[in-house]
Amino acid sequence: MATQDIKSITDQFIANTYARQPILLTRGEGVTLWDDKGNQYTDFLAGIAVCILGHAHPAVADAVCAQARKLCHVSNLFYTEPAAMLAKQLTDHSFADRVFFGNSGAEANEAAIKLSRKYAKENGHPERYRIITAEKSFHGRTMATLSATGQHKIHAGFEPLVEGFDYVPYNDLAAVRSAITDETCAILVEPVQGEGGVIVPDPGYLKGLRELCTENEILLMLDEIQTGMGRTGKLFAHEHFGITPDVATLAKGIANGLPMGAMLATEKAAEALTPGSHASTFGGNPVAAAAALVVVETLLHKGVLENCVSVGATFKDKLLALADSHDCVKNVRGLGLMLGMELDRDAMDLVARLRDKGFLVNCTQGTVLRFVPPLIITEKEIDALCAALDEVLP
Ligand SMILES: *Cc1c(COP(=O)(O)O)cnc(C)c1O
Repeated sequence: MATQDIKSITDQFIANTYARQPILLTRGEGVTLWDDKGNQYTDFLAGIAVCILGHAHPAVADAVCAQARKLCHVSNLFYTEPAAMLAKQLTDHSFADRVFFGNSGAEANEAAIKLSRKYAKENGHPERYRIITAEKSFHGRTMATLSATGQHKIHAGFEPLVEGFDYVPYNDLAAVRSAITDETCAILVEPVQGEGGVIVPDPGYLKGLRELCTENEILLMLDEIQTGMGRTGKLFAHEHFGITPDVATLAKGIANGLPMGAMLATEKAAEALTPGSHASTFGGNPVAAAAALVVVETLLHKGVLENCVSVGATFKDKLLALADSHDCVKNVRGLGLMLGMELDRDAMDLVARLRDKGFLVNCTQGTVLRFVPPLIITEKEIDALCAALDEVLP
């Protein structure tokens, strides 16, 4: 079908919820994408921090094909091997004892929100149901997760919100301390805020939250949907801060582009969930789980995390150097390969200009260029992007 036809059918028949960039992508390999005209792009977006091993990863493709030929879906009314093995891998390599599988980030957070309320009730606190979340957070677009999100623009038009979320400024322990009441059951935050503009908290922030949660016997729940699966140079971002949560949620990178979400929990927290209390038809789907198994194996044993740490550091240094030579850059921040460059002006037109030069990047909060490439990106591509940035930055 002709490009223009695909665009007009999309614009006419798909719900009008996205402002799409004007290119039609047809193929990818590693960190490179091609459009239908044969133009080539280096991907610094990875489908919004999703394709962490790059596009068309051979081992992921093989695992997906092999599983699709065996069994795509049977429901959680039966045992299947990929989900079992994935749960074992995720718990072996994290604080968690149990995993609940869903299909998206929002669903993983829904599971966490439901778990925290039930946990309070099961542990003798029926009065506790409120969850403290942060301003500028992003937790998803379902009613509960948009209500958890501390951004008015995400709420607008969908009121009344789900009751029971208290927003506090991010990276402000005193604000959290004073927001805790007898009705609080949990704190839910991102270890590094993504959508909010790539905000890394002070080193003591998560530790302080951990202490507050332990003191008050409430759950510390980390939204690692963007930061998890190696994005920040550790398997989970909370490992940088020397703490473990009670609950963590994953999605984005977990299956390199197949839809999957997961909620990790300690045994104590997970005990609140019993047969019939929560469910998802597709959760732990064999095909997505087969892909995720390759992701975990490759991250841990094929040098991907190490690459993320080393090229992430180089990338940040180069962005900082650009900040020195371009006054419009206010700030460069981030961890691993989750980096942001904040400008003193709107950054949307730079996204288009970089695309014209063959680089896909993203802009968040209007003024922050966000770089979340596949974790296999190399210095060569980073050098090329930085040269292009040098040209397009005012
Ligand atoms: C993307 C994201 C979500 C929502 O994930 P969906 O799969 O779009 O539902 C939630 N939290 C964070 C931190 C995210 O980055």
